[in-house]
Amino acid sequence: MSKILIVEDEVAIADLEKDYLELSDFEVDIRHTGTAGYEAAMEKDYDLIILDLMLPEMDGYEVCRRVRDEKNVPILMVSARKDDIDKIRGLGLGADDYITKPFSPSELVARVKAHLARYERLVGTNAKQQNDLVEIRGIRIDKTARRVYVEGEEKVFTTKEFDLLTFLAENPNHVYTKEELFREIWDMDSIGDIATVTVHIKKIREKIEKDTSKPQYIETIWGVGYRFKV
Ligand code: CA
Repeated sequence: MSKILIVEDEVAIADLEKDYLELSDFEVDIRHTGTAGYEAAMEKDYDLIILDLMLPEMDGYEVCRRVRDEKNVPILMVSARKDDIDKIRGLGLGADDYITKPFSPSELVARVKAHLARYERLVGTNAKQQNDLVEIRGIRIDKTARRVYVEGEEKVFTTKEFDLLTFLAENPNHVYTKEELFREIWDMDSIGDIATVTVHIKKIREKIEKDTSKPQYIETIWGVGYRFKV
């Protein structure tokens, strides 16, 4: 059974959405604030999140950004105003779809089903043959399913760690500065700086290297940056 998280501060709307989704056999949780929504999204593996834009404590933009940094779950953003949707798109937050209020519950259910079907196709096991793979020595990166295997064992990566590793592995033997990597992987309006790159490289090495003091994959070129060795 697919699990859906609704983050919506208007109780009546949230309950209505829940009723309709449950009629379609979804398991539904509701959170009424941005903070509670973000925490729920981190705690449990939802198949899809329906995220209202205007929320107390933490708005939908921020919830989307934070969740997207950690998880690939489809996010359907809900807004009362059409121009918000242009803003969401412009910010490149990684939302998968947008729906404006008022909408009919059946339209919402149809959108949810369409997204789950699309997501299943992307990550489903029966799509293996078409998956886009990057393989370098003992590392296999499945770009379609966004999974990484080191010597056959799956390792869990955050979104940014995955993007950074994939970028380096797809451009081997090229030395990139931290500034270049930051620009490539993080949005321009990201909070953070090039120190973020160092932190992420360290975390990636802990997952892929046998001995992080003698990296065999991502090499540090002192005073310049990093390079993925082939
Ligand atoms: Ca609201």
